[in-house]
Amino acid sequence: MKNRSRLVIGNWKMHLSPGEAAAFVDAFRQELPSLPPAVGVGLAPAFPALERVGQGIAGTRILLAAQDVHPEAKGAFTGEVSAAMLKDLGVTHALVGHSERRRFRAEGEAVLAKKMSRLAEAGMAPVYCVGETLEEREAGQTEKVLERQLTAFDGVSAPPPGLVLAYEPVWAIGTGRAATPGMAAEAHAAIRSLLSARWGTAAARGLQILYGGSVTAANAASLFAEEELDGGLVGGASLDPAGFAAIARAAA
Ligand code: PEP
Repeated sequence: MKNRSRLVIGNWKMHLSPGEAAAFVDAFRQELPSLPPAVGVGLAPAFPALERVGQGIAGTRILLAAQDVHPEAKGAFTGEVSAAMLKDLGVTHALVGHSERRRFRAEGEAVLAKKMSRLAEAGMAPVYCVGETLEEREAGQTEKVLERQLTAFDGVSAPPPGLVLAYEPVWAIGTGRAATPGMAAEAHAAIRSLLSARWGTAAARGLQILYGGSVTAANAASLFAEEELDGGLVGGASLDPAGFAAIARAAA
């Protein structure tokens, strides 16, 4: 029997202005009574919308997540946002290592490890994203890639407080081509076994691993039927309040 609860987080990427985000929250709040209480729900707006979303979800059980955080605590880093600033806005979680940042910002494990340290210092939880490209999968490298990405935890003796993992195969993100439930479950099991080797079976068994990559209201139930999947990190389909609510219901 697993003892992990399920969680769905909407990653809005560079979508929804503060005004649009507030309208989303108004609509999504109507859906809340229909959502299973056992499924955690989080929203990850772009930085400018965090405050409005935070105000809109105040008093609800919706978690506020950021899409990124800077690896340094403060200083002369024009245009950047620190963990303490996010904390002040009521943010509890931050994505770290999303493949779009690995790819477009060349973020590697060393900088991602620093981001997770800043989050831990500020009392926030990382949602650490891993996943292989199509080329890597076809070359039989999937597990090797996951292992390398998990080296961001080298020297970390226990899971950072609140840590959530997200398995997001790069080839499935925004492509409309989700992993099959079996493929996702296999990768999740591999990640859990790597985490077991790192921190022990009991600790690894308690960690939530979300699946991300073209999750929709149509395929969510079949993906979440896999016990290895503890929920989803949802991009495009999280921009529609009713659709995102349907995905959360499917995670029950
Ligand atoms: C994501 O960006 O984390 C993601 C999974 O996107 P999408 O659901 O659009 O594939």
